[in-house]
Amino acid sequence: MIQFTDVVKSYEQGNKALNGVTMQIEDGEFCFLIGPSGSGKSTIIKLITGELKPTSGTVHVNGYSLERIRRREIPYLRRTVGVVFQNYRLIEKMTVYENVAFAMRVVGAREKEIRDRVPYVLELVGLEGKENRHPNELSGGEQQRLAIARALVNNPSTIIADEPTGNLDPERSFEIMALLQEINNLGTTMLVVTHDRNLVELFGKRTIAIDEGLVVNDGLEEEENDEAE
Ligand code: ADP
Repeated sequence: MIQFTDVVKSYEQGNKALNGVTMQIEDGEFCFLIGPSGSGKSTIIKLITGELKPTSGTVHVNGYSLERIRRREIPYLRRTVGVVFQNYRLIEKMTVYENVAFAMRVVGAREKEIRDRVPYVLELVGLEGKENRHPNELSGGEQQRLAIARALVNNPSTIIADEPTGNLDPERSFEIMALLQEINNLGTTMLVVTHDRNLVELFGKRTIAIDEGLVVNDGLEEEENDEAE
């Protein structure tokens, strides 16, 4: 579960990024987070992953209290949250297989577990047969699938996808969202940060809208079709 209560985040320069955010995302939910540039979306992600601490208020993520988490507990928190980064952050020198296996090695998985798990995850995201390619030999959609496989491989309870369709055409975007939905159906909590209103409307999921560091809407985006555009 992700729970923000009255979260304020000010940066050193005095910039107030969040002005009292309260929201709760239950285990197993699929939720979009939308808002204009500068509204505080990245700050919310960084608070969830423990990269930042709230200035005031409380942030609870999968049993950890982020306002008072110890540095040495952060790797354990991060195993519960897989992040799909905006520009993929793949390792170019490594093959598809190795990119995913490496994510398991860094958390100390055994070789046997790696051999069992990596093919399963690559198949789940539709990259079977491409194990030996390098990221630069993949299409944009395939690179995104690889980034999703890597986020998924250590079996996190939550996945945060930051603009997962930002670099993709509408058809690829739809496929990636369908994949994230499928992963959610298997039980992983999904938080998708996006600008893409069309996809949000198409998928009809809970949507948390933020503006100027405040939650301005929380519910089904479908109900607001009249206001769109
Ligand atoms: P979004 O991801 O929605 O574009 P951000 O969370 O990045 O929004 O930013 C929210 C606000 O916080 C913006 O006004 C931004 O300028 C400010 N901000 C973000 N990061 C920093 C930082 N490291 N130092 C100072 N201000 C920042």
